[in-house]
Amino acid sequence: MGVDTILRRRVSPVVFTSRLPFDERRVQAAAIYCSDGRFGEQMDEFLHSGLRLPRYDRVAAPGGAACLAGHAMTYYEQTAMESQVEFLVREHGLRRIVLIAHDGCAFYKSLWHGLDSVEEQQASDLRKAVERITLWQPGLKIEAYFARKVDGQIAFERWSSGNGDDVAGQRKDRWAIS
Ligand SMILES: [Zn+2]
Repeated sequence: MGVDTILRRRVSPVVFTSRLPFDERRVQAAAIYCSDGRFGEQMDEFLHSGLRLPRYDRVAAPGGAACLAGHAMTYYEQTAMESQVEFLVREHGLRRIVLIAHDGCAFYKSLWHGLDSVEEQQASDLRKAVERITLWQPGLKIEAYFARKVDGQIAFERWSSGNGDDVAGQRKDRWAIS
């Protein structure tokens, strides 16, 4: 009996079973956001309840979509994220992508952002990321948001994605997540 066969037959003891049922259906949407776990639960709540996207695909990486903005220091991260998104478009039939930047993102500590404030740089990066995804994956609906700390809660704002989906580039829809 080969090692592969032995490994396939092995049944390990169950250490935990989720109470949540499994749903096979895909919503054909993904969110790209920062790995920062302090924002994770709020991101889920916003995507699930605010945007009504249960079971959305998660693409989490330090700085989120910032690596798609063409910074020299994130060349390898950009290549990796592009192949991840391409996989999701091909295999999961993605039609919509939600980009979310967040307040106080540590990724920007090591990124030169010229004379702009970090928040201005984040807004510029999201617009460039939208442009880049649109160029190589045309036909996807792409939206940009910002998760802001407000009085111990996280409020989500719609930011301009530069693709005409938003109102005059300054729309400020908010979802307050407690
Ligand atoms: Zn971050």
